[in-house]
Amino acid sequence: MVAIRGERSAPEASRAARGRSRRVAAYRSRALSRVIVITGPSGVGKGTLIRLLRDELPELGLSVSATTRAPRAGESDAVDYHFLSDDEFDSLLAEGAFVEHAEYAGRRYGTLRSELERRAAAGEPVLLEIEVQGARQIREELPDALQVFIAPPSHAALRERLIGRGTDSAEIVDRRLRAAAAELGAQDEFAHVVVNDRLEDALRKLRDIVLAAIERPVD
Ligand code: ADP
Ligand code: 5GP
Repeated sequence: MVAIRGERSAPEASRAARGRSRRVAAYRSRALSRVIVITGPSGVGKGTLIRLLRDELPELGLSVSATTRAPRAGESDAVDYHFLSDDEFDSLLAEGAFVEHAEYAGRRYGTLRSELERRAAAGEPVLLEIEVQGARQIREELPDALQVFIAPPSHAALRERLIGRGTDSAEIVDRRLRAAAAELGAQDEFAHVVVNDRLEDALRKLRDIVLAAIERPVD
């Protein structure tokens, strides 16, 4: 068969396709191994630890989640969250725009596929700060993703932090503490658990776990 100029012969085309699929597989394994899930109950200090970790490792991207909860004072759209109405959340869900999503304390939260793809394409490791139901979905969808559970030193400390943060009403704090009881029961599912008692100790442990994962060579 004579190849028309600009077209490939069958063996060339199949060689090119094999090369492409090898690159895609390598790209995927690299992208997947660089998703880092930080989970644990609300108020345990996930956001604080992530902020400090990113100060030290600025190459870590942070996925901006979507939520139907209202912005808190000082939060901005597209920076802290993509703040959506229920209808907007439903439309994105119907389009398959979420890698994972969950209802938490009466509001909906989800990780947008586009947030992960954008960073994976740039070869950037990306952190997801999500609750436990979402972490389970990521475990199914991206089994190579690193997952770290942040635990409080005690239930009393968690309550104090949630109240001390001053962002939520007493009713919301109660809802979050009820959710925390179930979430704490799930920590055995996670290979890495960091107790956030002294902040500096927890940060050091988290940094060691994350560095070991992102520096690990991928095939
Ligand atoms: P999360 O993101 O898990 O909901 P935050 O990072 O908002 O939690 O932390 C909740 C509150 O606890 C904040 O006021 C934060 O300053 C405080 N906090 C975080 N880590 C510690 C710690 N190790 N010891 C005492 N307070 C802490
Ligand atoms: P908050 O309302 O305090 O910002 O978040 C409440 C809980 O939702 C926290 O435990 C937070 O980690 C979690 N969360 C934030 N974004 C997401 C997300 O995209 N997916 C899931 N499953 N949980 C999220």
